[in-house]
Amino acid sequence: MLNRTDLRGQVPSVAELRSTLPRAEYDVDAALHHVRPVVEAVRDRGVEAVLEYTEKFDKVRPGGVRVAAAELTSALENLDPAVREALEESIVRARKVHGDQRRQDVTTEVVDGGTVTERWIPVERVGLYAPGGLAVYPSTVVMNVVPAQIAGVGTLVLCSPPQAAFGGLPHPTILAAAELLGVDEVWAVGGAQAVALLAYGGTDTDGATLEPVDIVTGPGNIYLTAAKRLLRGIIGIDSEAGPTEIAILADETADPVHVAADLISQAEHDPLAASVLVTTSGALADAVDKELTGRVAATKHAERVTEALSGKQSGIILVSTVDDGLRVVDAYAAEHLEIQTADARSVAARVRNAGAIFVGAYAPVSLGDYCAGSNHVLPTGGFARHSSGLSVQSFLKGVHIVDYDENALREIAGRVVALANAEDLPAHGEAITARFEGERA
Ligand code: NAD
Repeated sequence: MLNRTDLRGQVPSVAELRSTLPRAEYDVDAALHHVRPVVEAVRDRGVEAVLEYTEKFDKVRPGGVRVAAAELTSALENLDPAVREALEESIVRARKVHGDQRRQDVTTEVVDGGTVTERWIPVERVGLYAPGGLAVYPSTVVMNVVPAQIAGVGTLVLCSPPQAAFGGLPHPTILAAAELLGVDEVWAVGGAQAVALLAYGGTDTDGATLEPVDIVTGPGNIYLTAAKRLLRGIIGIDSEAGPTEIAILADETADPVHVAADLISQAEHDPLAASVLVTTSGALADAVDKELTGRVAATKHAERVTEALSGKQSGIILVSTVDDGLRVVDAYAAEHLEIQTADARSVAARVRNAGAIFVGAYAPVSLGDYCAGSNHVLPTGGFARHSSGLSVQSFLKGVHIVDYDENALREIAGRVVALANAEDLPAHGEAITARFEGERA
């Protein structure tokens, strides 16, 4: 079922690996052209343009965009108790993990009387996006809101696409999750329109105002990602999170049932989702392929899963050794990487590039999607080589606070003047010497 690439006996360079490994065609730059008019219309005409594009893309025209408090309360009251209980546990675990991860301010005494403090200041207004096209993601509301709250952001604004089936409101489980978490404002708007409205602000049909936010986080489809790329600078963004990916590094000790189930679980998100198995074992590859055939036919979203698994972005890569496998997964830099090998912990410790790493047979990606306590908004498309997933740090700005007294400045004055003169910026030096005029040099 999956395409195969046999790298056994070969030692490809990183560049060769990057060009041969399976990857979705996901041209965000091409989509820029498509979303630019949407962004400009929302900038110029606000909510009126949002409603026009909502009608076009979401096939529904709500009376307004701001979701009333009563709708949020009612969504939570009507939430299935089992889902509510699961969401609450997901929130508890996410708060436990993220709470331990907030960076602390650090003060360094450089010299007697001279300190530099790095202070972590939360972003004031944050726009969070919960997708709502092919699937609805109340879990993404948890993953966005929890780190933002722990960082201490001032105001949280959530956007999620309006659904025709729910009278133009976002999906009720999204609304319920927002209410459970205490989100400040919820707006029924999706895709590029949502990012533009968050960036520029706007006034709803009933006069409610969305003030521009400072940063927009959260995953979404190519239109949302293109709008984030376009508006970066006017707003801050988290890493671009595109179609989901799983890579599994496995040897002959892995259970083909677990491997097949996990490959399918990510393929279920999206026809563009990538499921990649990197293995030292031809026998495991055969067994996984066989298992996939039976399981895919029986799974609910078989059509979407089949498209994702048979796409050019998915496949099996055969390698000679686990070391070679590590080179492959590092070059691929998957959003989610499972290690299903002997001594999985020590293999996982050697990985350099992945959005999140899942160790051993009992830490599948689905656990991380919902209830591990880790964050599931992660870099895709190889961005894990240089970017991190969403975290408390995504909502904090590090500010250096410089505090020197007179003696501490006097002690370093000559060196500052020397460097200022070397850069032909004598006024910089004079700003120092002006403080000590009359003193002997
Ligand atoms: P979405 O909310 O991102 O997109 C729906 C919106 O797209 C609609 O509201 C509509 O306004 C807009 N749209 C639809 N067709 C359009 C068109 N032709 N032109 C312009 N805009 C259009 O939901 P989705 O489509 O289901 O995508 C969600 C994505 O997020 C999936 O790819 C999924 O894999 C990904 N995801 C990633 C993570 C992660 O952490 N990386 C987590 C969850 C979901």
